[in-house]
Amino acid sequence: MGSPTITFAGSGDTLGSGGRLQTCIHVDADSTQFLLDCGASSLSALKRHEIDLNSIDAILLTHLHGDHFGGIPFFILDAQLVSKRTDPLLIAGPPGTEERVRAAMDVLFPGLSDVDQAFELSFTELKDQEETELGSLRVTPYRVVHPSGAPPYALRVAFNGNSIAYSGDTEWTDALIDAAHGTDVFICEAYFFDKEVPYHISYDTLRSHYEELECDRTIVTHMSEEMLAHLPDIELEHADDGVQITI
Ligand SMILES: [Zn+2]
Ligand SMILES: [Zn+2]
Repeated sequence: MGSPTITFAGSGDTLGSGGRLQTCIHVDADSTQFLLDCGASSLSALKRHEIDLNSIDAILLTHLHGDHFGGIPFFILDAQLVSKRTDPLLIAGPPGTEERVRAAMDVLFPGLSDVDQAFELSFTELKDQEETELGSLRVTPYRVVHPSGAPPYALRVAFNGNSIAYSGDTEWTDALIDAAHGTDVFICEAYFFDKEVPYHISYDTLRSHYEELECDRTIVTHMSEEMLAHLPDIELEHADDGVQITI
């Protein structure tokens, strides 16, 4: 069995800072491939990095903002028209995910949610701190602090003896300590370097809690222009579009 690979197809924030593509983290877990979030620009991001769309079994969503789930209508339209998908696709996220995703599909491409696809499209709504088995993945959400019309989560995903946690978007909350505990990699947003705003973490704040994070590796992502300007000053690893790591 090969080492799991994480590809940051998109490592950007909401507003295109640094010209980066929006959040789209691809994980090749050998037996399963999945996305952590699927921002509006994800289809371009995945094609840019030559990721086989039909090999993606599941899309796991942290929260329902467009830079985290807005790529799904494009993904599904591609699956129908270009990739000719036949394998099932599972979308899992907070309560309200199916309704919001189907609404987005129909706003962007009227009638898309009613198309009789050649693949099964299913939805699973995740409950706070409840582990859900999705094929070979075990997914546990942790409620964070980021208003987005549905409960926002950090996600912890375990598979084949490996585990990844991802903060989604949130201000600091001790829920991140629980999500990251014992994982191989914790991917965490760091929107600003030292400016404090509601609902996002600054690098300074993350750094101040670093000793509490019991994980092997921490990688920051979802950075504003202000944070990107400070990249030479940071000690933690950071994501870039196209960066691939093995765990
Ligand atoms: Zn975001
Ligand atoms: Zn957000």
